[in-house]
Amino acid sequence: MSVREVIRMGHPVLRQKAKPYPEEKIGTAEFVELIEDMHETLHEYGGIGLAAPQINVPYQIAIIEIPDSGTRYGDIPLMPFGVYINPTITTLHTQQAGYWEGCLSIPGIRGYVERPQHIRVEYTDDNVQRQSLEARGFLATVFQHEFDHLQGKLFIDHVSDPTMMAYEEEYMTYHLEN
Ligand code: ZN
Repeated sequence: MSVREVIRMGHPVLRQKAKPYPEEKIGTAEFVELIEDMHETLHEYGGIGLAAPQINVPYQIAIIEIPDSGTRYGDIPLMPFGVYINPTITTLHTQQAGYWEGCLSIPGIRGYVERPQHIRVEYTDDNVQRQSLEARGFLATVFQHEFDHLQGKLFIDHVSDPTMMAYEEEYMTYHLEN
């Protein structure tokens, strides 16, 4: 296992549509190593989600893990470690809510992004089972943020008000509620 380098905004791979991951490769030694490296990299960088293109692997794989409340995102729902392969999103309700998003590929910057807050996620898991789940609220935002990476999109693409972007320190000082 090893920590991989997270590539940053400006790297062309972050702007390319990732390829579907071949399902016959799920469970191979190569796949297991990739997932372990993504997991270790997520911990090393201190994030809650990571998409394979962020470590310069242009396939449709993302991991999400929200280990506890009280992270840098405040009081948020716990989400056990999960692997999401070749996912799709369906919006179930168009009502939106906004969060100050951050991204390991855009370090030090936050931006306020509004997204639908009730979605269905369909994906293949690491046992090659097709799965479906519904996500609401902050979790819906996390899924959309991570899966955007698989389409070559970044959260800044969704910042509708450019005055609602800030460096981490200024975000904490001027924009963090409570
Ligand atoms: Zn990101």
